[in-house]
Amino acid sequence: MRIGRTLPPAAAPIYPEDIISGLKGLIRGQKEIKRFEAELKDYYNVKHCFLVSSGKAALTIILKALHQLYPERNEVLLPAFTCYSVPSAILRAGLKVKLCDINPKTLDFDSEQLQKILSKSNSHGSQSSILAVIPTHLLGLPVDVEGLKKITDNKITIIEDAAQAMGGMLREKKLGTLGDAGFFSLGRGKSISTVEGGIILTNKAGLAKNISKQMNCLPSYSILEVFMLTINAIILSVFLNPSLFWFPKSLPFLKLGQTIFGPEFPIKKLSSFQAGLSNDWRKKIKYLNSVRIKNIKYWNSVFNSKKILTYKVVDKPLLRFPLRIIDSQLLDTILKKNEQFGLGIMKTYPNSINAINELQTFFKNQDYPVASTTVSQLITLPVHSYVSTSDNIKIMNLIQKSLKTL
Ligand SMILES: *Cc1c(COP(=O)(O)O)cnc(C)c1O
Repeated sequence: MRIGRTLPPAAAPIYPEDIISGLKGLIRGQKEIKRFEAELKDYYNVKHCFLVSSGKAALTIILKALHQLYPERNEVLLPAFTCYSVPSAILRAGLKVKLCDINPKTLDFDSEQLQKILSKSNSHGSQSSILAVIPTHLLGLPVDVEGLKKITDNKITIIEDAAQAMGGMLREKKLGTLGDAGFFSLGRGKSISTVEGGIILTNKAGLAKNISKQMNCLPSYSILEVFMLTINAIILSVFLNPSLFWFPKSLPFLKLGQTIFGPEFPIKKLSSFQAGLSNDWRKKIKYLNSVRIKNIKYWNSVFNSKKILTYKVVDKPLLRFPLRIIDSQLLDTILKKNEQFGLGIMKTYPNSINAINELQTFFKNQDYPVASTTVSQLITLPVHSYVSTSDNIKIMNLIQKSLKTL
C-alpha cells in the first residue's frame, strides 16, 4: 500500500462552493432542475433534455423509448471495446447486445466489419433487427458519427455515447448532438461530476415523447439518498486531492477504478441537489477541459519511441491520455512502477465486451480479436486539473526508465 501523493487516473473536482450551490438547489427544488435543463438545451441547441441518475440510466431510458417505436427490433450494436455499463444498460432495457470489432488506431468501429453487419441486417427481408447503433467517444476521442450516418442512411437510430466527452467537439459540432440521441455521464471520473448523474439529449419528437412518459414514472431520490449524495460530494471534494487520494484508494471495499458488469442499477430522476452541484458548469467544463488539452499537448510532444503509440489528437479534451504499448513486458513494468509511485497510470477495462461471462450466450465463440488485443495494450495517463507539471515529469521519467529496462 502506498501512503503519500497519489494521482487519481481521472477526476472531475467538486469544490466546496458547488456543495453550497447543491444545498441551495435542494431548497429551490424543481426550479433548479428546470434551470439545469434549460441551460443544457441552450448550450447544445437541442429541443429535448432529460436528467437522470447515471449515464447507464440515460441509455436504458433512451433504448426503452426507442423500442416502443420499433418493437420488432431488439438488437443494439456497439463497439466490442467499451465501458461495461453499456451492455448493462442494454440488458436492463430487455434488448440484445451485438458487437462490432474496432479500429485500434481510432477506437471507432472497424468500418469494413460495420458495413458488413449493417448490410447483412438490412437484407433480412426488408426490416433490420438492429434497433440502434452506439458510436462511442471513448476517453473523449471523437469518432466518425457522420460517416456512420452515411452507412445507416437514416434507417437505424444512432445513439451517441458521449459519456466521457462532455464539452468535446468534432468539426465545429458539439459531441452528444451528432446522432439521433446522445447521452453524457456526470459520474466521478467524467468531464464534470455531480457525484452521479446522466443527461439525455435529442431532437426527435417521437423519441422525446416516449422518454417523457418514462420520466413521469421514475422515482426521485429519497431524503436519505440525497443525504448520502451530500456526504459523497464532501468526500470527493476532499479525497480527490492527490495528497489524500491514497487513503480511499487503499480501501478495497470502495472498489475504486473497478469496472463491473451488472444490469441491476437504480434509475431515478436527477435530484435538485445534483442540479445545484452543477453550478456554473459551462465555466467549469471550459476550464477543466482547457487544463486537459494543455496536458495532452505536452504528452503529444514527448513520445517518439516506436514502442509507444499515441493517438494524435490536437485540442481535444480527452479524459485520460491513451498510449498503446505493444510490448507486454514494457506495459507490465510501467504499471508495476506506477503502483510504487502513485502516478495515476491505468489500464482501461478488464477485457473486451464479448469476454463478459454473463453475456456468453450472445456471442457463441465469436471473436473480436482487435478489441481484446487493444484492451490488453492500452494504458492511460492522467490529464486532469490535479496533475502538476512535476507529476508530468515524474510520469515521463517513469516511462523512460521502463523503456531502458527492456
Ligand atoms: C461511464 C460511462 C458510461 C456510463 O455512465 P455512468 O454514469 O457511470 O452510468 C457509459 N459509457 C461510457 C463510455 C462511459 O465511460
